[in-house]
Amino acid sequence: MELSDVQADLSEVLFTPEQIDEKLAELAAVVDRDYAGKDPLLVGVLKGAVMVMADFSRHLKMQARMDWMAVSSYGSGTKSSGVVRILKDLDTDLHGRDVIIVEDIIDSGLTLSWLKQNLESRGAASVEIVALLRKPEAAKVEVDVKYAGFEIPDAFVVGYGLDFDERYRNLRGIGVLAPHVYS
Ligand code: 5GP
Ligand code: MG
Ligand code: MG
Repeated sequence: MELSDVQADLSEVLFTPEQIDEKLAELAAVVDRDYAGKDPLLVGVLKGAVMVMADFSRHLKMQARMDWMAVSSYGSGTKSSGVVRILKDLDTDLHGRDVIIVEDIIDSGLTLSWLKQNLESRGAASVEIVALLRKPEAAKVEVDVKYAGFEIPDAFVVGYGLDFDERYRNLRGIGVLAPHVYS
């Protein structure tokens, strides 16, 4: 799906497919440099990070292993509470591994800060984070995101893996969902 296909549902276009791809290529080049000689494990957070993982990982020049986790934040409504439940765990033993969490977006930061600590507690040698989007105004906890893509305003965005009610994940670009869609 192209941004033009859902124009009426978006109040603003934030990033075109080209801008996203360019940013992921930049992040991958830095990760390639930082992890030279290492054997990192990419951990994708389902489902939103599927597109980021697909494109970021293919920009890497090094070999990278891949695994997936699904987590859910308890709490009512659309805001996460910081209480996290693992819906699907990793298949990989993290002992001594250099882990790179691959995420779509950091909103409150509660989910990621919990996840980072959880993976560290399993004996990983290091845990860093790649996130395509970050909402700085919404941060409830400081999360050290070493590889961050774009900073965005505190609005609800969809596309490129990010959904509203499981829709818009297959949109190639990213935009702000128009209020008439959810109200
Ligand atoms: P956090 O714990 O940092 O508040 O956010 C956890 C999850 O909420 C993100 O990984 C993402 O799945 C979802 N989320 C946060 N902000 C947005 C947004 O603007 N749009 C969409 N579609 N999901 C979001
Ligand atoms: Mg996510
Ligand atoms: Mg969602």
